[in-house]
Parts: sequence; structure tokens; C-alpha cells
Amino acid sequence: HSGPLRWKRVMLKLSGEAFAGREPLGIDGVVVGHLADAIAEVVREGVQVSVVVGGGNMFRGATLSQQGMDRARADYMGMLGTVINCLALQDFLEKRGVETRVQTAITMQQVAEPFLPRRAIRHLEKGRVVIFGAGLGSPFFSTDTCAAQRALEIGAEALLKGTQVDGVYDSDPRKNPDAVRFDHLEYGEVLTRGLGVMDATAISLCMDNGLPIVVFDLLGDGNVLRAVRGEKIGTLVSP
Ligand code: UDP
Repeated sequence: HSGPLRWKRVMLKLSGEAFAGREPLGIDGVVVGHLADAIAEVVREGVQVSVVVGGGNMFRGATLSQQGMDRARADYMGMLGTVINCLALQDFLEKRGVETRVQTAITMQQVAEPFLPRRAIRHLEKGRVVIFGAGLGSPFFSTDTCAAQRALEIGAEALLKGTQVDGVYDSDPRKNPDAVRFDHLEYGEVLTRGLGVMDATAISLCMDNGLPIVVFDLLGDGNVLRAVRGEKIGTLVSP
């Protein structure tokens, strides 16, 4: 049944919001379980999977700074939140028999390895899922930018960006019933049209290095595998 696998090593970006599911805050075990199932399926096909997890279900630096907090400190809070999500995903994956390693950009050796790119690659070659936490370890960046940077550093062939919608539209499909979905976009179009795929830093990094991005509905059944196989799903952003 297995079609040709288009990519052998991928970077999967999971938004923190997905982790909360129907819970107002924190972790929805049902949703994280589904995500772990989807990742396990891809790993069993022999694809090397790395993951960057966001932290929107915990804290966003920009939101906290609107409440008067120092932006950089608020961003560190945001980064720490992503690590909590990483540990949750690690647990659900290991329960499914998938070997994992969490590597963080802020060292916390009791719970995770430090980010070591060459070791991360070794883990991937051994079939382990490597989950990157704490973003880039620097304020004023997003986990999307982190996903692009880590993808490039570890040699992932594509950035698969799982979202709550099934691709990129010309306007918000939840507000405008006539919104049109793009099958394909060039990086420049994303930037000039201000499409909310990822922030400009992340898009620029992908553009400058020719890293393809697949924006797809994360929670649709079998979607992660379809994205990895390069099936027509969601929106492809590429040169
Ligand atoms: N963050 C940061 N530097 C990074 C990655 C993340 O400062 O390299 C902070 C930032 O405050 C951000 C928060 O961590 O708002 C959570 O990440 P993000 O908003 O990207 O999560 P997502 O939207 O994917 O859930």
C-alpha cells in the first residue's frame, strides 16, 4: 500500500495551540495521542522525523508583553512552555513504542539533552524521533523560525507545517465563505501578500535556502503521512 516516499527526513512543526485541543489551557491527551499516532505511522514507514513544538497553549511573549512584562523575559517564558509540550509528546510517542529524544536550546539536563545538531542527526539515523524544545533559545523569534532553522541544520528536506486549517487561503476561511485556497505559492507571494503562513523571518529563511513548506490540516486522518509522501494536500510553498 505504501506509495513512494518523497522525503526521507522531514521537520514537522506542531503549533502549541493544537496541544490544548478542547481544553482551555495546557494539554489535551486525546489530541496529543492522535498526533503521536500520526507520527508513529510515519516513523514505521521508515521516514526520519524531527519535530518542533510551539507553545501557544502556554504563553506567547508578545501577549505577555502587552500586559506590561519585559518582552525578552516573556519570550523566555514562552520558550519554557514549549518544553512542557515536548515532554507531553515524548510521553505519548514512547507509549506507542516510538523511541524519542528531546533536545532543548536552553539546557535543562534533568529532562532533555542539550541541542547538539550532530547528535540529533545520529538519533534520526537510528529511527528516533527528535523533538526540539525551547525554540532557538533566543527571544524575538518564533517556533516557526526555529523549525526552519533546525530543518536546515539537520538536513531535513521539507518543513511540514501542521495547522488547524487545510492550507493557505487568500482570506480567513472561518470568516469569509468565498475564501480561495492556494495549491501552490512562491515564497515571495507569501511575503508580499502578507499571507499568514508563518512569520516573515521563517519564510525568508526557507526562501533563501529553497526549503519547501507544506501547510496542511494536522488533525485530518492520515494527513501527516500524506504530506510526507508529497501527495497533494494543503498548500505547497516552494520556489
Ligand atoms: N519563543 C522565542 N524564541 C524562539 C521560539 C519561541 O522567544 O526561538 C517564544 C515566543 O514568546 C513565542 C513563544 O515562545 O510566542 C511560543 O512559541 P510560538 O508562539 O511560536 O508557538 P506556537 O504559535 O507555534 O504555538
